[in-house]
Amino acid sequence: HMVTIRYADGKGWYEPRVEARAPIPMDPASAVLHYAQEIFEGLKAYTLPDGGVAMFRPDANAARFTQSAQRMAMPSLPEETFLQSLREIISIDRSWLPPGDEGSLYLRPFAYASEVFLGVRPSMEYLYLVIASPVGPYFSGGVKPVSVWVTPDYTRAAPGGTGAAKCGGNYAAGLSAQAEAIENGCDQVVYLDAVERKYIDELGGMNVFVVLDDGTLVTPPLTGTILPGITRDSVIKLAERAGRKVEERAISLEELRTGAASGAIREAFACGTAAVITPIGTVKSADGAFTIADGGTGEITDDLRKQLVDIQRGRAEDPFGWVHRVL
Ligand code: PMP
Repeated sequence: HMVTIRYADGKGWYEPRVEARAPIPMDPASAVLHYAQEIFEGLKAYTLPDGGVAMFRPDANAARFTQSAQRMAMPSLPEETFLQSLREIISIDRSWLPPGDEGSLYLRPFAYASEVFLGVRPSMEYLYLVIASPVGPYFSGGVKPVSVWVTPDYTRAAPGGTGAAKCGGNYAAGLSAQAEAIENGCDQVVYLDAVERKYIDELGGMNVFVVLDDGTLVTPPLTGTILPGITRDSVIKLAERAGRKVEERAISLEELRTGAASGAIREAFACGTAAVITPIGTVKSADGAFTIADGGTGEITDDLRKQLVDIQRGRAEDPFGWVHRVL
């Protein structure tokens, strides 16, 4: 199925509908096709131990959707409308939720400029939609450390750009970098900052953390060029609750390389909705490759992953009120 809601200047959001999923007719001059005025979100619905269905922190996705809309000069959708649209698609597509406690129903809310107009200015009409798609476990056969490629050629976002927004254009611009990572035998691309080409920003679709030898977590700060990940925020809150120190500061590739060699950095991991927490095993760049510790899964990485997954799946107490029961 799909949820659709229309928007027009002067009229606001109107005509909410839930209907069978079908192609959306589009004029060749629809603004989004030319200037990419489009934003989206991604989150999962999954089964709880008692058979109920929940979403993880959908209010945070709603808030980020609003921020992305502001950056892309789009009207914002009221948070309650966003949440209601997710509840609707889950109830109607519930049979698509894979059985067991590993699979989930991926939810993709998005909005785009639907006005038929070729001038360059914000559109006066938009379409908001939600679709759902079943997904299996991200890792079949246990969590495996990923290898990452530090791209020397591409940047993801520059100061003043759209890096902090979840807009399609960011991902279009990242496809060549991801292809480069694959060509170099790595799973994922790592972007360095656009100004000094020195500091680690994030991966193609995940935020990054390193663990220092004293157990402190360090993650790049939200300076506007990286996506404010909801998993990133959850990891910070969980770690701080456990009494762990968390520093939001720049980490250079050089610090990672020398820290991994000396043992000053003992773990690194990436995090995002799809994989939750993924250990980073090998880092490869134009200057050569190195591993973080023995290239395996670190203890703190593993512990944080278990804690987070257990809260998400309703197997552990939820002290932050992150799990939103839908059914
Ligand atoms: N960075 C980028 C570029 C992403 O696409 C994602 C996935 N949404 C993330 C980070 C992680 O964000 P989240 O934890 O909200 O999924």
